[in-house]
Amino acid sequence: MEKQYDVLVIGGGSGGTPAALALAHAGKKVLLVEAGAGLGGTCLFEGCIPSKILRETAGRLRDIARAEEFGIHLPHQLVQLDWRRVQARKRAILQRRSAAAIHRVGQLDNLELLFGRARLTGPRTAAIEPFKGDGTEITFQQCILATGSEPNRLPVHGADLSQVYTSDRILDIGCVPERLVVIGGGPIGIELAQIFHVLGSDVTVMQRGPRILAGVDEELAVALQQHLINQGIKLYVNCPVKNICHSGQGVFVQYDVDGGCEQVFATAVLSAIGRHPHLDGVGVEQTAIKIEHHAVVVDEVLQTTEPGIYAVGDVVGQPMFAHWATAQGLALAAHLLGRKGPPFPQPQHNSAVIFSSPELAMAGLTEEQAASAGIDAGVARYDFSQDARAQIGGHDNGVLKIIYDKSNRRVVGVHILVDGAASLAGEAALLVRAGLPLEAIAGAIHPHPTLSESFVGAVRAALAVNSSSK
Ligand SMILES: Cc1cc2nc3c(=O)[nH]c(=O)nc-3n(C[C@H](O)[C@H](O)[C@H](O)COP(=O)(O)OP(=O)(O)OC[C@H]3O[C@@H](n4cnc5c(N)ncnc54)[C@H](O)[C@@H]3O)c2cc1C
Repeated sequence: MEKQYDVLVIGGGSGGTPAALALAHAGKKVLLVEAGAGLGGTCLFEGCIPSKILRETAGRLRDIARAEEFGIHLPHQLVQLDWRRVQARKRAILQRRSAAAIHRVGQLDNLELLFGRARLTGPRTAAIEPFKGDGTEITFQQCILATGSEPNRLPVHGADLSQVYTSDRILDIGCVPERLVVIGGGPIGIELAQIFHVLGSDVTVMQRGPRILAGVDEELAVALQQHLINQGIKLYVNCPVKNICHSGQGVFVQYDVDGGCEQVFATAVLSAIGRHPHLDGVGVEQTAIKIEHHAVVVDEVLQTTEPGIYAVGDVVGQPMFAHWATAQGLALAAHLLGRKGPPFPQPQHNSAVIFSSPELAMAGLTEEQAASAGIDAGVARYDFSQDARAQIGGHDNGVLKIIYDKSNRRVVGVHILVDGAASLAGEAALLVRAGLPLEAIAGAIHPHPTLSESFVGAVRAALAVNSSSK
């Protein structure tokens, strides 16, 4: 007999798992199906967490390299990277987090977790192929698609060579590559380029367009480019890659430049040219679900064009962030329960961190986006070279920009480039979400000496200019 569920959740990542937990907690009978080896999705196994674990090791190495500056003598020649240990530590953390998630799910009787594949066979039915045991057909009242995304394939000859990695695979690489070419100057490409550079790779970043981090505040992205160059990373802009060919122990990456063709040698290539929603084998063609630009089309409550089937996270398209997927999953769960829950997330309120060095944090609109939205925007600035905490930490090269609506002085965006910016992103998100006026920030007492004083410093300066120009 077919099993019946209130809700089928396909995909146990950042979007699907919190939604399944919230629904089951409220009494719904939920089936969560996950096709990976553990519970946590891309963020846990191929994304946020493993990349930050490698970054942590890189950060420790960078600190050791700067030890003299802080009055510590270290025998640098004895510092060695034990890559096997780094990888083992990474695996242990991932396993621990996955086990904890499985444990949380297991505590709810009405939440069933199955490792295997789910495929829609109609608007209210799905075929479940578990990794262990026989396949079954189930029926559901509602379904949440949370199947995530996968890396875009590099559309050039040679993309299938064994030296060419996606972000998924390079995080498990057997050794630090001697010469790494990163194709793509987006958040993932830049983060991994800097990590491997510190770990010992000779790194070249190849960017098709005129600058890295398209869509990010231009001033900060250009400043970060200069940091990359100063750190010793080679950065080629306006250089579309045309071909990759095998050569001895490595490959030649061939690219167009100024009408000619040049090449650079690499022992490993990271293809980081974006991601697209994962829909293979999900069975959307058995339903009325509409796909546009490879992404599932949803309305304002994340319902697809098949009533009763919803979608959250990367499978819906940009923005692709773990916190965004979770916010969507939780808002959707509240909506399906008929409860007043967190509002459905809006792009103009999103926040994000690019885990570059220095970190780049952002929330809300850039100056350009504010102008396009018809906002007469002002910018309150703070230069971290004057900041006590930044000077103490030896990272005083950076800037904070608060974008505000001049008509009411409410904050519409915050953009920060400084080491430690990630820890300021939460406050930035709150300012944008609440749309607080500059005066409210100026009146909030921020502790000294912390990087958070930058918010107050920026608005005091802007308010002083505003009042003196009246
Ligand atoms: C290198 C890298 C670094 C990143 N760093 C960050 C970061 O620092 N911060 C951040 O916010 N975001 C980061 N991201 C993005 C983040 O990982 C994703 O946005 C997030 O994981 C999306 O969550 P999701 O639930 O939509 O999808 P996923 O987490 O991808 O989960 C989808 C799940 O669905 C499963 N699935 C697919 N098809 C089926 C099926 N038919 N049946 C059953 N299960 C199925 C998959 O196995 C997968 O586990 C990073 C991504 C990458 C690649």
